[in-house]
Amino acid sequence: MSTLASIAIAGGVGALLAAGVGAQVGAGPAKRRAIDALRAACAARRALVLTYDDGPGPTLTPLVLGRLAVAHARATFFLLGMRAPGAEAVVDRILGDGHELGCHTKQHVNAMRSSPWRAIRDIDDGYRALSRWISPNSPFRPPYGKVTVPTLLALRRRGAPVCFWTVDSRDTARGALPDPACVADEVRRAGGGVVLLHDFDRASDAQERAKYVLTVTDQLLLAAEREGLQIMTMGQLLGLPAPSA
Ligand SMILES: [Zn+2]
Repeated sequence: MSTLASIAIAGGVGALLAAGVGAQVGAGPAKRRAIDALRAACAARRALVLTYDDGPGPTLTPLVLGRLAVAHARATFFLLGMRAPGAEAVVDRILGDGHELGCHTKQHVNAMRSSPWRAIRDIDDGYRALSRWISPNSPFRPPYGKVTVPTLLALRRRGAPVCFWTVDSRDTARGALPDPACVADEVRRAGGGVVLLHDFDRASDAQERAKYVLTVTDQLLLAAEREGLQIMTMGQLLGLPAPSA
């Protein structure tokens, strides 16, 4: 396993244990180190990793898949277990198109705002709900990017890499959406990045938000081509073994 993957998994947990393991113990230093390592790895390899959270979205996900297929690009989808029932065919298609799947819990519990056992149960429930498609140690994306010492330890026990991001597309920001060109600009300036996007079907502003996600995706794919960035999955960036399933 690569050093980067080890950082992503361990997240400096050992050092944090000195602070005690308890409810809502944040893991800020570990998170910062993991994000710094991601930034460095992206810049070194001129890597662009497109990640889509909170899906599957029966309407939006297939549209995203269409854009990625045209560009022959592979992305990583961090699914919510609660959205899989009824959308099995969409998840099958994500995998069938050659993309990577990861877990984003079952119910999107914020680890910093709940008890450790509830947060850990939500992680376990997510892996269980998605077990048809993912392994117990498939990559994990924490809801809201929030981790605690107990959740990091639980993920480490699984051997599941914790995958943060370096560029936020702000597609879930409250109020007006930003200029989509800002996201590609940020990636260009950094010489690559792990971009956070969301492919669930929104309850409000659905069309406007979906259009934004697709526009940002298109612009990132174009920027990668123009700037010579390599589009890869989270697992490829972290040097994880290819899934055997
Ligand atoms: Zn999320």
